[in-house]
Amino acid sequence: AKARGKGQYQAFVEEMDSEFRYRQRLKNDLAIAISEDQLKLVYQPLVDPATRRVVGCEALARWTHPELGPIAPDVFIGLAEETGQISAITRWVLQTATAECVFWPQPISVAVNVSARDLRGEDLTRYVSEALKASGLAPGRLEIEVTETALIEDREGAAAKLAALADKGIGIALDDFGTGYSSLSYLRGMAFSKLKIDRSFIADITTSDRSLKLMANVARLGQDLDLVLVAEGVETEDQLEAIARHTAIDQVQGFLFGTPLPAPETRELIARMNRR
Ligand code: C2E
Ligand code: CA
Ligand code: CA
Ligand code: CA
Repeated sequence: AKARGKGQYQAFVEEMDSEFRYRQRLKNDLAIAISEDQLKLVYQPLVDPATRRVVGCEALARWTHPELGPIAPDVFIGLAEETGQISAITRWVLQTATAECVFWPQPISVAVNVSARDLRGEDLTRYVSEALKASGLAPGRLEIEVTETALIEDREGAAAKLAALADKGIGIALDDFGTGYSSLSYLRGMAFSKLKIDRSFIADITTSDRSLKLMANVARLGQDLDLVLVAEGVETEDQLEAIARHTAIDQVQGFLFGTPLPAPETRELIARMNRR
């Protein structure tokens, strides 16, 4: 038993070691990925449940490593936050997404995710202005998505930065709403224009009356606060129907309308869905 315990420990150490080396390698390669165009953006539509028209798209980053294949965004974004490379990624995403959005019919907007580290320094405000200027996109067609966890570190600093962006007419969305600790307290004193209800709430909406009631009431609360309400992770017609029938949700997003797509296919999807 003792020998096996030791063997297990050894395996554990080796695994940790290789995990560490794997992450280290990804961090190194990420620097090259940014400069050598290995990052791509895909877009996921936000749809009006009543009309089924596309009203906006969220930009999501993709990285296909030349040897290791596709790396999940949760993984490489996390690593980029550790190294500080996130700043360069956010800048690139803002530039690319705004340049694409100007081709979409007005008033379709584009949403970009930013992380805690982006809210720390002064770069974000500059990158946003830079991207709007270069693309010629109206500020009202750009949206910034932040999660509650990104707001924990420096709450006042983050609030000030988001307020400055909101003053320019840029939309601010609270992402993954309902998964953090103090959701409601963030609704005070932050310049949000949109709430995105996390997909965990939508998952059982057709089987749980409580989930449906929760959604309906969060939507009502959001309405009272003049927020646009989004349901994330809508995967089935039944879920969409329940949302449309029983809640005042303004926009839905999810695999029901397909997986996120590259820019050219996104343009085709918008044209198809908004034809009527
Ligand atoms: P997120 O901002 O909550 O993005 C939504 C995620 O849910 C995306 O995963 C999307 O593909 C997935 N999703 C959309 N609809 C459905 C559905 O109906 N069912 C299910 N099961 N999933 C759905 P993805 O692309 O893997 O991104 C994961 C996370 O990585 C994002 O979560 C976001 O936090 C982060 N991320 C992605 N791109 C960027 C970026 O450019 N910058 C930053 N800072 N973070 C990013
Ligand atoms: Ca998001
Ligand atoms: Ca989300
Ligand atoms: Ca509303």
